[in-house]
Amino acid sequence: MAQELKHGTWSLKSRLAVLGTLAAAAVAIAAFLAFQMLHRTEAAVVGEAERQLAVAGNQMANRYHYLSASFLERDAPSPLAAREEVLITQLTEALLAGYQGVEGGFYISADDALVGYAYPTYQGTGRKTDVPAAEEDVIRRVARRAFREEKAVTEQADAARDVILFYARPVMAGGRPEGSLWLMHRLTGVRAIAAPLYGWGLIILLGVVAGIAAWASFTVRQLSRGVETLEAGLLAVEHDLGAEISSQGGAELDRIAAAVNRLARSLRDQQERQARLEADLRRADKLSALGRLVAAVAHEVRNPLASIRLKVERSIKAIADPEKLCQNFSVIQSEIDRLDHLVDRLLQLAKPIHLRPAPFDLNRFVTDRLELYRARADSQRGELVFEPAPLTAPVHLDKDRLGQVLDNILTNALEALPPKGGRVKVMTSALDAGAQRVALTISDTGVGIPSGEMSRLFEPFYTTKDKGTGLGLFVAAEIVRSHGGEIKVDSEPGIGTTVQVIFPC
Ligand code: ADP
Ligand code: MG
Repeated sequence: MAQELKHGTWSLKSRLAVLGTLAAAAVAIAAFLAFQMLHRTEAAVVGEAERQLAVAGNQMANRYHYLSASFLERDAPSPLAAREEVLITQLTEALLAGYQGVEGGFYISADDALVGYAYPTYQGTGRKTDVPAAEEDVIRRVARRAFREEKAVTEQADAARDVILFYARPVMAGGRPEGSLWLMHRLTGVRAIAAPLYGWGLIILLGVVAGIAAWASFTVRQLSRGVETLEAGLLAVEHDLGAEISSQGGAELDRIAAAVNRLARSLRDQQERQARLEADLRRADKLSALGRLVAAVAHEVRNPLASIRLKVERSIKAIADPEKLCQNFSVIQSEIDRLDHLVDRLLQLAKPIHLRPAPFDLNRFVTDRLELYRARADSQRGELVFEPAPLTAPVHLDKDRLGQVLDNILTNALEALPPKGGRVKVMTSALDAGAQRVALTISDTGVGIPSGEMSRLFEPFYTTKDKGTGLGLFVAAEIVRSHGGEIKVDSEPGIGTTVQVIFPC
């Protein structure tokens, strides 16, 4: 079956493989997009927090400058220099109250000390007053750097799923940097804002795609198994219409198998009906042949009977005349002989035709048979030719019976030739490509048959010849019919006759 697929026709298997590849590509694209989205979300949150820290840092620096300016106006040292811890803590606290999650304080460079720590938005139970111990080192480092480099510095630390942002900027007193302020913002869970969602989504997606692929491969396997079973079943049905197709390839294939089984059953029924009809037809054909035969026999019997009756009547009247009696009895005897001969022929005809078909080379057979007629044709100055067709296989026919058919038709053809000569041509031919049927054609250039007589040719005892029996074509047709073949006659008076015999091989 597979070889019969046209180029460019895709099997279901390859179509499903393409589907699988597309599904895998879709997963890859979805994963890439999810990663990008996640990444951008994290970057956006961190960026926004950094901006906020810078704003808070600016504000804090400004407030401190105002404060220290007012201290300087009073010729007092700056709050940091004066270690005004409470004041500074208040400043930090007031400012950071507006910044959710931000904690911070100041760094005094001279003492390397962290002061003024506050975390007003702390979510704990009480106030948080201590610099976070774990981050203290980083805070100091960032604060020192800002002081040393005299510019705002930021740093970012990754802690598992959190990101911690550090910010520091120098604070001036009288145009000189005296320390720095620092801020810290812990962005809790920012590194995994969408990670659980993404992870689970991806796992589910992969699961679904794997499920699709497994289901597709299972379906394809089941489908091809079902199709193989169907093919094997169809092969079996081809040889035996009684075979049943079974299928395990799913509902649709089961339905096809059931439909094929129904079709095979109906074909089987039809074949049986046709065989019955053919048998009936053969019986009817035989009955009609019998009817024709009986009519012909009655006709043949009536003439001699009438003649015998006439002679018997005359004999009764001329009972005293021995010479007349003798004459009448001799006529009666010859009529009885005629009837006896008729009975003989009838008995010959009544012999049932038992066919004994066997394979043989038709061309060889016809060549040999024609040799028997060669001398007779020559004596009539007639030409006898044979044109064999190349036949690939031997024919399966009853050789003797075929010989009888050929004899009867050939005799008629030679008898039809005019005395000054003519031509009889015999041909063989294969009627179809597989040589399921062969034809044997005998044509002559004889007297031909008037169209009105054509329908009577196969009647028993129909003859136009003085010494004819009228049984040649009748017997030939019976033999051909019993082989399942047919016989056709085509003729034109004055031109010639063609008899074609067609046999199934
Ligand atoms: P018979 O040869 O004994 O007459 P057949 O049955 O062989 O009986 O033929 C019946 C009749 O058909 C013949 O008498 C003849 O009139 C006619 N006939 C048969 N074959 C030919 C032929 N090839 N050419 C002309 N007439 C034919
Ligand atoms: Mg004849």
